[in-house]
Parts: sequence; structure tokens; C-alpha cells
Amino acid sequence: MSEPVFDVAIIGYGPAGATLANLLGQYGLATVVLEKDAEIYALPRAIHFDGEVMRVFETAGLRAAVETISRPGLTGMHFNNAQGETLLIRGGTNARGPHGCATNHYFHQPELEGVLRQGVHRFASVQVRLKHEVESIKEDGQVVNLQVKDLQSDTSSHVRARYVIGCDGARSLVRKVMGTRMTDLGLHQPWLVFDARLKADVPSLPDHTVQHCDPVRPMTYCNVTGNRRRWEIMLMPGDDPAAMVQPEMIWKLVSPWVKPEQAEIERAVIYTFHSVIAEGWRRGRLLLAGDAAHQTPPFLGQGMCAAVRDVANLAWKLEAVVSGRAGDELLDTYESERSPHVHAFIDLAVKLGDIIQTTDPQAARERDVKFKAGQPTIFEFPSPRLGAGVWLGDVAPVAQIFPQPELQDGRLLDQVLGLHFAVLGEPALLSQVSPETRQLWHSHGVVVRSATDPNIAAWLKTQQVAAVVLRPDRYIAGVARNAAELDKISQCLPQVTESVH
Ligand SMILES: Cc1cc2nc3c(=O)[nH]c(=O)nc-3n(C[C@H](O)[C@H](O)[C@H](O)COP(=O)(O)OP(=O)(O)OC[C@H]3O[C@@H](n4cnc5c(N)ncnc54)[C@H](O)[C@@H]3O)c2cc1C
Repeated sequence: MSEPVFDVAIIGYGPAGATLANLLGQYGLATVVLEKDAEIYALPRAIHFDGEVMRVFETAGLRAAVETISRPGLTGMHFNNAQGETLLIRGGTNARGPHGCATNHYFHQPELEGVLRQGVHRFASVQVRLKHEVESIKEDGQVVNLQVKDLQSDTSSHVRARYVIGCDGARSLVRKVMGTRMTDLGLHQPWLVFDARLKADVPSLPDHTVQHCDPVRPMTYCNVTGNRRRWEIMLMPGDDPAAMVQPEMIWKLVSPWVKPEQAEIERAVIYTFHSVIAEGWRRGRLLLAGDAAHQTPPFLGQGMCAAVRDVANLAWKLEAVVSGRAGDELLDTYESERSPHVHAFIDLAVKLGDIIQTTDPQAARERDVKFKAGQPTIFEFPSPRLGAGVWLGDVAPVAQIFPQPELQDGRLLDQVLGLHFAVLGEPALLSQVSPETRQLWHSHGVVVRSATDPNIAAWLKTQQVAAVVLRPDRYIAGVARNAAELDKISQCLPQVTESVH
């Protein structure tokens, strides 16, 4: 019997692929995940994600599970000078931020990936094939043919899917096949990344993150979770990379912090932090997500966050196209919306990197004076608007993410709205929309709620509007002051403009 044609084939089962598999599983799309490795990549990379990302995990039904392996960023970040003097504190908090959870979270990437993969087991519509390497990709009319090698049996087979998402990391095969170029945003700096596990409590080690702004050797220290600690140490001109990863050198570098008898080395690797972004995230039925589409230096802890935001943007669009409720051109809005957003975060990470990586003593002194005066506001996460896409309106809050308040009954907003578009509006206004709008809402399964809840009503009042249209990824498609405007915004709902998908 020939293989079925899957709705979606995901290549790569890292954070991007695993999150997408969960989201598509919730929509019931016939999905196959192809991953060449037998196991989760065991070495830690990402250690931080933000509140918006936790919100995506919550949408995927995995917030409680993710909370068991992560901790909220209570303790903040201290910027110290070479003498250890604290110049600036970026405070942490456990308080609920705009996304209905803490604003920052720390975690061990392999544990998070374990939770995401466990989540995928819930869905009969998602097949996962580990030790399956995609060797070639060919678009053929309405389907994509993948040649896949089973690394266990050393045999090749074909997988067919309507859409293929390259979540296959920095060296993406999908990107190569698409012929997509990467634009270089300018930073390529080698750093030693050293992860250690404490053998017992080391009281002198801070709970907070430290940016050790020493122009002789910039360094970052982070309390990850449990007994895991991370040091990121910049390589300086003349450093021999091979010598830098030797245990005696590592212990020497971290000797002001920890001694060999207090911790064991989990790994020490030199990474060159890149800042690049793909030009062309879609070609026909092939699309890119995560590191395959962009890479950022980790100074803001945002690489994986961007990957998760990518797939949150893509999942509902794939569902709308595959189900026939939207035309295939909806997928073109994926890059136009996401690329400027990712760009804003990479630019900021590069700027922050320039500040932290300062090696000129005079420039470092000037920076330290500014830090002491509390000047840099650069460390706050931006909330950029999406680029051109599925929304109507020229100014914020349109195309920004909507907050997730707690409702009067104790539930969080997203739990009530589910996976589809939503309209929140003043009761009088909702009763005045046209029958066509009502019909459109009905055919798209739009959740319509009177904005009687105080938090929602307060938001509408602050924005001086009477209704808001939210997309399934909770970005704001439009705001309306009256029924005519709400009728107009509702036209943003993806329409079928071609008959064959
Ligand atoms: C030192 C360091 C610190 C970082 N810190 C942070 C942080 O604090 N916060 C943050 O958000 N991000 C951070 N990042 C970035 C984050 O780790 C990455 O952005 C994230 O892992 C990207 O996920 P991905 O799923 O796109 O790619 P990957 O995790 O690279 O997964 C790609 C998968 O595709 C598979 N694959 C590739 N080719 C094929 C093929 N042909 N067939 C089948 N399978 C294939 C691979 O085996 C792999 O499993 C950090 C990165 C580094 C290196």
C-alpha cells in the first residue's frame, strides 16, 4: 500500500518542530515528524524563555508540565564591573506579567524538549519517526516528496506531504533546497559555554544572573535550574579554542566563582554566536521555522523563543489552509509578519552584545558610568508589531500581542478563547454588526464574547475602542470603535481565494 499524503511533514524535532507538532496535533492535522537523531540533543543550549513563549506552551496544553521543569525568573540580572561592583540591576519578579504568567523562565533545554515530545504522544494524528534523516526534497504539483533514510535499518523510503516545514536547525537542508539566502546582521563572536552541576550548595554563588562586564574577559554567569549553573565566557584575541575547553583552563577561568571540588563539568563547548536571518521563508510548499530561518546571539535568550513564536504564527495558518477555509496565499503572510519581529529582537541582542562585549578599557569605563546612572533601557524586551499580514490598522496595538488577563471566574483568557479567532466587544456593539459579519464569524468558528469582564473592559477603555479582534495566536487583528469598523476588520479573517490547496 502506498504511504498516505500527510497534511504536514515537519523535518526536525528540536523545540521548533516539537512545539509545532503539538499545535498541529491539537488541530488534528495529519502530521509526520522526521528526525535524524535517536534521542533528544543531550547538551544544554537555551536556558531562558519569556512569558509569551510560556503562553504558547499553555495553548499547547503543556503549561503545567513545563512549570515542573522550569523556574520563574525571580532573581533578575546584575551588571557588574571588573571589580565585582554592581552597576545596574535588572530586577526579576514572580508576578504575573502581561501573558498571565511570569515574564521570564529558566530551564534545561533537554528537559523542555522531553516535555514537548511527551505532549505529542497525546495526538493520534501525529506520527513521529526518529532516526529518519531526510535526504532529498522534491515538490511535485500538489505534494512534496521526501526521500527519507531509516538510519536503524539503513533503508530508504518516501514520505509525501502537502506542506513541509523545515525545523531542521542552523544547517537546514530545507533552506538549501529552497535556495534561500541568509542576510548577515553582523555579529560572529566565539564564546566558551560551560555548564556545570554543583555537587552541593555553594552559598557564595549568586541566585541572580551576573553580566561580568570586565573588558579583559567579559563573562555571563547564570543559575539555571536545580544544581545546574552556566558560565558563558568570551574568547579574546590570541585564545587557543582547543586549550580553552580543557578542564584546567575552565576551572582557572571560573576560579573566582567555583572550585573543581564543588562542581562537575557537564560540558564545555565553543560556540560562535551568529546573527543571521533568511530572505525567503517560503517557497511553494516548503517553509522554514526556528534556527533554519534565523539565528541570534543569545544575549537576550531569544533564539528558541523566536522559534516558538514562528510556529505559533504558522500553526493556525496551516490549519486554515489545509482545512480549505483559507487560500494558500495566507502562508505568504508568515514571513512578512514574522521577519521584522525577529529582526527587532536580533538587532537588540546585537546591541546588547556590543555593550557586554566591550573590550576597550576607555569605552568600558564610559559604559560603566552610564550603567551606574541607570541609563540603559535597552534591556527591556521589545514588543514589536508584526510586519504586513493578517490584520487591519496602521498603529499599535494592532499587530501586537494581546495580553492574557485573568477573568472574573479565575480562568485565564486563552482558556476561554480556544484555538480560533475571537471577538471581544461591548455588548451593544456586538448586537449591531451586519448579518454578513455574523455569517463570516460563524463559518470561521470565531468565539464572540461580551467584554463585560473588568480586565477586558479596562483594556478597551484604555485603547478608546469598543471591540478587538484577536487571531488564534492572540495577536490583535484589529480594533473597532463602532459596528461599521468591526464589520470592516472582520474582513481580515482569511478567505478562500483559490479552490485547490
Ligand atoms: C549556547 C547557547 C545558548 C542559548 N540560549 C538560549 C536561550 O537562553 N534562550 C533561547 O530562546 N534560545 C537560546 N539559544 C538558542 C536555541 O537553543 C535555539 O534557537 C533552538 O534550539 C532552535 O531550535 P530549532 O528547533 O529551530 O533547531 P534545533 O534545536 O537545532 O533542532 C533541529 C533538529 O533538526 C534535526 N535535523 C536536521 N536536519 C535533519 C534532516 N535532514 N532530517 C531529519 N532531521 C534533521 C536535528 O537533528 C535537530 O534535532 C541558545 C543557543 C546556544 C547555542
